[in-house]
Amino acid sequence: MTETVVVLGAGYAGTGAVQRLKSELDPGTDVVWISEHDYHLVLHEVHRVVRDPDVADRITIPTERVAGDRAEFVQGRVEDVAVDDRTVVLADGRTVDYDYLLVALGSRTAFYGIPGLRDDAHTLKSLDDALAIHEDVAAAAEAATPGDPARVVVGGAGLSGIQTAGEVARYRDDHDAPVEVHLVEALEEIFPGNDPEVQSALRRELEAADVHVSTDDPVTEATGTEIQFEAAGAMDYDVFVWTGGVTGGEPLGRVEVDRDDRSNRIQAGETFRTSDDRVFAIGDAAMIDQGDSPAPPTAQAAWQAAEVAGINIARAIEGKPLQSWEYEDKGTLVSIGETAIAHDVVGMPVKTFNSYPAKFLKKFVAARWIAGITSWRRAMRAWSAL
Ligand SMILES: Cc1cc2nc3c(=O)[nH]c(=O)nc-3n(C[C@H](O)[C@H](O)[C@H](O)COP(=O)(O)OP(=O)(O)OC[C@H]3O[C@@H](n4cnc5c(N)ncnc54)[C@H](O)[C@@H]3O)c2cc1C
Repeated sequence: MTETVVVLGAGYAGTGAVQRLKSELDPGTDVVWISEHDYHLVLHEVHRVVRDPDVADRITIPTERVAGDRAEFVQGRVEDVAVDDRTVVLADGRTVDYDYLLVALGSRTAFYGIPGLRDDAHTLKSLDDALAIHEDVAAAAEAATPGDPARVVVGGAGLSGIQTAGEVARYRDDHDAPVEVHLVEALEEIFPGNDPEVQSALRRELEAADVHVSTDDPVTEATGTEIQFEAAGAMDYDVFVWTGGVTGGEPLGRVEVDRDDRSNRIQAGETFRTSDDRVFAIGDAAMIDQGDSPAPPTAQAAWQAAEVAGINIARAIEGKPLQSWEYEDKGTLVSIGETAIAHDVVGMPVKTFNSYPAKFLKKFVAARWIAGITSWRRAMRAWSAL
């Protein structure tokens, strides 16, 4: 009997898994790949679009380039998964049956119940989000004067927030635009939970780029024109981008498998199996058990997991034991406009460094990903955008 493996999502997790499944599965097994857009977005470089929308086509890869003849791509928005019937339900009413399912639908921005955020702030999780931020920054800059500059506030100083603030600062410099850039963080340090050495290096680089960094003061409310902080009171803004955290997207709430109550992400073991034997989950959509703490919601973790997920689904079909996955932190690469910080990168003799070597490494890692799912030719075309 022909088995059908269905993969949900065309981010790093879904795209990497499809690529691996193509080589792992025997030709008699069908692969159906479902996602809302017919392209893979190199999401960890989407902040580049905030500065320059022209880079968009270099960081989007048509899914057909990855699917080839081996996988069937279905464009559609996943609405629900009926695990008892083994059926995926799409928003337009179409249904797709599966024997094995890999959920790789990524995450959504967390608002933590802060009033006004959901309605008044931009989020950054898609190409459209990045284009909308670009348009608002450009319009605010156009309307501003050196005596009354536009104020762009980025809330949340994790990977997305730091890199977005860096791009807005670079936009300001490239266009000699009257724009103030603020990066605000509730916790005591930027890039929370990481080594103080990389936190200080990032703060130095942001300040050198003329980004105002403030920490230890949570946002308590936002309106269309003002942000309230717990300690500092009110701040006016022209553009507000909220990147404060990740949570499971809506359809995850409807997949009847165990989830983490706080984040709504699907609980998965080290083999990516969930509480349903036929359902696997990886990437930002999953809380993957790694002992003391789950794997982080990063591109790096998603593409590492995707490789093993492809192997494990093939093994599950063949009734073989599954491999346990262990996340390996290969280091941190963070851009701030035209420069970058590298920290703890495997094989590097210096622990933390910046400037061209860090920038080159960051470009190389993204290019290697693009080459892995398409070709080095395509990766080289993207190089200047990375
Ligand atoms: C601006 C920014 C900068 C970042 N920088 C870094 C970095 O420097 N390093 C790093 O390691 N990580 C970085 N990250 C985090 C990283 O991008 C994510 O951890 C990673 O994208 C997770 O991969 P994923 O495949 O799980 O999810 P995603 O890449 O988000 O993919 C999810 C996929 O599912 C699709 N989808 C979602 N919902 C539905 C639905 N209902 N129906 C159909 N399709 C759906 C989406 O369209 C997408 O194709 C950054 C993130 C952002 C936003």
